[in-house]
Amino acid sequence: MIPYKLAVRKDSSTIIQISCQGRLCLIGEGNLTVIAGPCAVESEESILINAALVKKMGAHILRGGAYKPRTSPYSFPGLGEEGLKYLALAKRETGLPVVTEVLDVRDIEKVMEVADLLQVGSRNMQNFPLLQELGRLKVPVVLKRGFAATVEEWLLAAEYIMSGGNHQVILCERGIRTFESSTRNTVDLGVVPLIKELSHLPIIVDPSHGTGRWQMVRPIAKAAIAAGADGIMIEVHHNPREALSDGDQSLNPQNFARLMTEVGRIAEMEGKRGVSCKL
Ligand code: PEP
Ligand code: MN
Repeated sequence: MIPYKLAVRKDSSTIIQISCQGRLCLIGEGNLTVIAGPCAVESEESILINAALVKKMGAHILRGGAYKPRTSPYSFPGLGEEGLKYLALAKRETGLPVVTEVLDVRDIEKVMEVADLLQVGSRNMQNFPLLQELGRLKVPVVLKRGFAATVEEWLLAAEYIMSGGNHQVILCERGIRTFESSTRNTVDLGVVPLIKELSHLPIIVDPSHGTGRWQMVRPIAKAAIAAGADGIMIEVHHNPREALSDGDQSLNPQNFARLMTEVGRIAEMEGKRGVSCKL
């Protein structure tokens, strides 16, 4: 018996609609969605620069963490509420919908004031109280795969959100931990067609955390779309060397522009609408 009753494949695939400042953004079947932006919101100036540049290059959704799940308590933890304020500014200036991570149930309300989509990070994929809270909301959730989670555990995490009544879940493959240590994680691209077979939910791929190396981000982004992913999440920074987190895996503006051009071509070959936001 398949344990995930709501996430299980049905005839039609789910398309998630996000409307932001009069624009409609579609995630799922037939659309290519590019989520891009810095790992973290670092300052007002930096999020505004990065938001403007990813918009100019055709991204559909802005990313940026205000609450960062850092492995070390001594690393930059994000700007918290101040970061949310800057994200709101960036959203107003660009008109881009925003996705940002919610780390703690106590922050949900604050994050919801700004975010159009809430991100559950890899480390929280099995934070069941958080998933249950998100299940009570009417907001799309980007559910990252736990770095040691099986596909079944991942779909059951989605089921936690869906069984509360919130069916707007987007799965995000971001690499898993294996014996291989030459990349930050091992991107499981096979999971893309597998999820398409097992579930009706949209799936996107994050090659930034998946590889940990900016040099690998563009090729893996293209491979993800060719494998059938509905979108990609890409870390972009106007000056990766100065980034407060994940600079090694962040694309500079020039490399992001190149990625957008090449990914657009693959999406076209796959019959996807390259631009999923309609005016
Ligand atoms: C992120 O996207 O900012 C992030 C921390 O990713 P993950 O949860 O996949 O490590
Ligand atoms: Mn990051």
